[in-house]
Amino acid sequence: MPVITGQQYIDRIDALQTYISIDGKVVTGKVSEHPAFKGVMQSQARLFDLQNEKALLEKMTYVSPTSNKRVGMSFLQAETVEDLVKRRNATREWALSTHGLMGRSPDYMNTTLMALASVADYLKDKPNCFPQHLLKFYEYARENDLTMTHTFIEPQVNRKKFYFEDEDVTIAAKIVDKTSEGLVIKGARLLATQGGITDELLVISTNGFDEGKGFAFSIPSNTKGLKFLCRQSFVGGDSTFDYPLSSRYEEMDAIVVFDNVVVPWERVFYYENVEVANSFLNVSGFQTYGLHQVLTRQIAKTEFVLGVVQSIVNTINIGEYQHVQQKVVDIIVALETMKALLLKSEIEATRDAFGFIRPDFSTVQVAIQIYPKVYPTFTEIVQLLGASGLMSIPSEKAFTADDGDLEHYLQSFQDGGEERVKKFRLAWDLTMSSFGTRQTLYERFFFGDSVRLAGALYKNYNREEYVKRVEDFLKNNH
Ligand SMILES: Cc1cc2nc3c(=O)[nH]c(=O)nc-3n(C[C@H](O)[C@H](O)[C@H](O)COP(=O)(O)OP(=O)(O)OC[C@H]3O[C@@H](n4cnc5c(N)ncnc54)[C@H](O)[C@@H]3O)c2cc1C
Repeated sequence: MPVITGQQYIDRIDALQTYISIDGKVVTGKVSEHPAFKGVMQSQARLFDLQNEKALLEKMTYVSPTSNKRVGMSFLQAETVEDLVKRRNATREWALSTHGLMGRSPDYMNTTLMALASVADYLKDKPNCFPQHLLKFYEYARENDLTMTHTFIEPQVNRKKFYFEDEDVTIAAKIVDKTSEGLVIKGARLLATQGGITDELLVISTNGFDEGKGFAFSIPSNTKGLKFLCRQSFVGGDSTFDYPLSSRYEEMDAIVVFDNVVVPWERVFYYENVEVANSFLNVSGFQTYGLHQVLTRQIAKTEFVLGVVQSIVNTINIGEYQHVQQKVVDIIVALETMKALLLKSEIEATRDAFGFIRPDFSTVQVAIQIYPKVYPTFTEIVQLLGASGLMSIPSEKAFTADDGDLEHYLQSFQDGGEERVKKFRLAWDLTMSSFGTRQTLYERFFFGDSVRLAGALYKNYNREEYVKRVEDFLKNNH
């Protein structure tokens, strides 16, 4: 099967009948018709349709090395810098379609899987490791244009260093049995964005102390015993006037429960190997390629934020004030910095030990230090510039019933009341609704905790040469 269409995506997810629980009710019938999921599934479907547009075929797809069919560009393994550029262009097309507001559009996980498969050799001849399973799954996902969600972390029970869960209280998912069929997993994991509306769940445990928790595998979302327990939906309603963003891009986050789930051996990539569990993600280009995709999306998102902010500035005519200009410039600086880092990561790309080209790691690590800090300031800027306009936002129904008061009294210097409110409702949904505040939390944490990511950059960034320069200066007095 080549790249799928949007309708094929929707039909496939509906057919899975995955166990999804929301507000205490298990979703029955078609998930694509459920109020919490229909908007985001339509937006996701549009991404698949884009891949099939004739004019975009070259940009969004490439010819599979095995089937000769056109497959999604986000599966492409980069052998040259040009391949990185192709990957970036395809990601940008999708990110523009969602204005960067769907962090887990399928290219995110396709990129992750591609990165893992590219270092499958690392698993060769290691105990309890199955590189051939990983390669086979990568090929299967690529050839069938699968969508994936993932869980990489354990429940937030006790984050003390060297915390071990009591043997008899299973909370964090672990291997409880091994049978001829596969691993038996019991417990929970966090936090599957898009959980329930993807074909597969990819699980990678990075817990380094407990053998029973060191595993990696992928299973279909409808595997027996697998449950996606959702938070409440942040879809405000169907009206795109009232909820321009949450009605389209609310991705949902789910706790994943494994109720004695059997993971077939052919889907196990490794298990009970602490050393591999601790090193595999780092050896792989997961972070490097992942952040290259992330940076591309975040640029599209920042462009959209800038557009929203400038629309507000224009509509109430506040562009002449210096502090307003400064705030807009702060967003421009962030945007241009991110664009420069993206290009730098490609210019300084290097070939890895497995023969593939990776974007420069330090550069993308710097980008993921910047964005979680700068994104919350965007929401502050929207509030500081929008002021009461962010609360003068009557609903679509109010405008339908309007006898002229709203249209008149909510007008701005350049727009009628309804047009002006549309802009402010968008700014509100971007930053202040439950959807908008989740966006801020997402950008803070979705790739991991900034503090620990900073620790990784501290360890990885080579400063020896600079220290040597200082030593030489002190020795030679110049
Ligand atoms: C909206 C959203 C969507 C997400 N989607 C996904 C997803 O699809 N898949 C997925 O796997 N994950 C997802 N995540 C989870 C994300 O990876 C984590 O939020 C992130 O790794 C931080 O882990 P935590 O939330 O458990 O925070 P914690 O690790 O519990 O941290 C809480 C606080 O304690 C501090 N802290 C804890 N431990 C340490 C330590 N050892 N050293 C220093 N400080 C420490 C942190 O700095 C932080 O301030 C998502 C998160 C969010 C918010």
